[in-house]
Amino acid sequence: MKRTRVIIIGSGPAGLTAALYTARAQLSTVVVTGKLLGGQISTTHEVENFPGFPDGTTGPELVENMRMQAEKFGAQFLYESVTEVDFTKGTPFRVKTDTEEYLADSVIVTIGANPREIGVPGEREFVGRGVSYCATCDGFFFRGKDITVVGGGDSALQEGLFLTKFGKTVNVIHRRDQLRASIALQTRAFDNPKMTFTYDTVVKEIKGADGVVKSILLENVKTGQITEKPTDGVFVFIGYDPNSRLFGTQLALRPDGYVRINELMGTNVEGVFAAGEIHDSQFRQAITAAGDGCKAALTAINWLGERESQLQPLEEAVPAGD
Ligand SMILES: Cc1cc2nc3c(=O)[nH]c(=O)nc-3n(C[C@H](O)[C@H](O)[C@H](O)COP(=O)(O)OP(=O)(O)OC[C@H]3O[C@@H](n4cnc5c(N)ncnc54)[C@H](O)[C@@H]3O)c2cc1C
Repeated sequence: MKRTRVIIIGSGPAGLTAALYTARAQLSTVVVTGKLLGGQISTTHEVENFPGFPDGTTGPELVENMRMQAEKFGAQFLYESVTEVDFTKGTPFRVKTDTEEYLADSVIVTIGANPREIGVPGEREFVGRGVSYCATCDGFFFRGKDITVVGGGDSALQEGLFLTKFGKTVNVIHRRDQLRASIALQTRAFDNPKMTFTYDTVVKEIKGADGVVKSILLENVKTGQITEKPTDGVFVFIGYDPNSRLFGTQLALRPDGYVRINELMGTNVEGVFAAGEIHDSQFRQAITAAGDGCKAALTAINWLGERESQLQPLEEAVPAGD
């Protein structure tokens, strides 16, 4: 079994930033990347709202730079997934991956959340080319365009209202005959001249040409009637699933499944910290995840520093800077 001072589960902006800080603090750091090196942001072609890039950047470029920066200070990357953790006996914690088992004095959990997909043909094909799950990230690219919003809850209306700043029209498609959003939001949405509503309707397919979205096939769930509607963008807001199942009952979760943390990014288990979308259901931005990763790392560094005399030497450890 290998030992390390810090293990970081996940390699999105939160994990890569945490790795930069702990490795630079001379703590042996292993990042278990999971299947998606770089996390959600690595799947997008245009990032215009991460500070430091006046001409914008791409998701893959951003995460590769972050990875290289963390590696430069000694973070080690394991391109596998964590399959099991044992936080029940306190530190050092056991973390099992596809092929390795680690004992880690502290753990930073950054395994994110996934936007719920509609699950229809064309959806995955056109992500970043007309299909989006983030109005803040992508609304700007739809200036003067016809936008479709899928969903009927608070986020669908909140994000739909935000999209009216950019789009010519914003049509909300909802599968029921009335919205689930709060009355206050509904009132604002109904009052907005750019917003229209299509009820009792589901998206059956997203169609495109020349690599971008052009239309959607809609089905009226009451009549079964299928219609094709031109649109330039489909924004899906039907919920998020935090990846917290891995922890079973070991970490305290909120009722919505997100990991519960304190103001210093600590979980209910001393020595286990969490950062990014695994706890944040509100902001969901690369920069907020990165900021969280920094905070969690600083707390972990202090926490380990306070216990330095009690920490066992790292025999067979993963040396920092190796
Ligand atoms: C298409 C798209 C476009 C976006 N565009 C923007 C944008 O322009 N600007 C912006 O600020 N934000 C954007 N976002 C949002 C941004 O990507 C997220 O807010 C951010 O990536 C969250 O970072 P995170 O580190 O918390 O988690 P995530 O990015 O979700 O990363 C989670 C990590 O955990 C890993 N993982 C999962 N399970 C395991 C496991 N069992 N073991 C080990 N690792 C595991 C994954 O491989 C991944 O590396 C976009 C999101 C999407 C989907």
